[in-house]
Amino acid sequence: MLRSPNDLTPAHLRALFDGFNSPIAKLDCGKKCAPHNPNGKPFCCDICHAVPAAFKSEWTYFQATTDLWHPYRADDCPAPRVTEAGRAVRDADLPSGMLLLACLGPDRCQRDFRALSCRAFPFFPYVTSDYRFLGLACEWEFESTCWVISNLHAVTDEYRAEFLRAFDHLLATFDDVFENYAAHSERLRADYSSRRKRFPLLHRNGHAYLVSPRSERMQRADVASLPKFGFYKPGLRRPR
Ligand code: SF4
Ligand code: SF4
Repeated sequence: MLRSPNDLTPAHLRALFDGFNSPIAKLDCGKKCAPHNPNGKPFCCDICHAVPAAFKSEWTYFQATTDLWHPYRADDCPAPRVTEAGRAVRDADLPSGMLLLACLGPDRCQRDFRALSCRAFPFFPYVTSDYRFLGLACEWEFESTCWVISNLHAVTDEYRAEFLRAFDHLLATFDDVFENYAAHSERLRADYSSRRKRFPLLHRNGHAYLVSPRSERMQRADVASLPKFGFYKPGLRRPR
């Protein structure tokens, strides 16, 4: 019986990875964001911006199958380069049973051995205050850097379906995973509430919504008209 994500066997993990493997968009979104990063790496694959967290069972599986990963070390990102988003992830209390990893970098990525956190980025499963998993919400720390968050219309239906299937399984199987995402969703609501803004949601019903963080009231929105942030606001020029 599976009691925690750390009971996931290599066969379970391989099936999860294989069922959650479609690209997020029809184009290579890394080519959209990387030109804005001074080192030319996609932001989510730059360890100074994003530190992947993985279940310990994933790490056990990776150790036996690939040389892609190692446990995150402080010197993976030299101190002057660490960003606010990277620091926030690195310093956050990790849910029990998880660890931080670092990979060989985007030039040496092995697509089949990406962690679940790579596959889900920039989304996480959004859970309402009355404990319903409604759809895909964005990792708000990456609003200004991740092109996808400003272009949610580019996310394919196939990716959305695979995301929902993977997290329906994980959230229904493991209470602590559900609780962790419920708490993360609460942090999302608190952040947007402090900014007096509504947050975008790709709902499991296939539509997009803007959600009021205090009342949790949802207003259906044209996915192409959802807010743009940071580098991707209209009128800002692309770096050469
Ligand atoms: S998911 Fe976002 S940060 Fe990652 S490569 Fe795509 S646009 Fe860049
Ligand atoms: S494993 Fe691949 S997708 Fe994941 S962080 Fe590394 S380069 Fe990016």
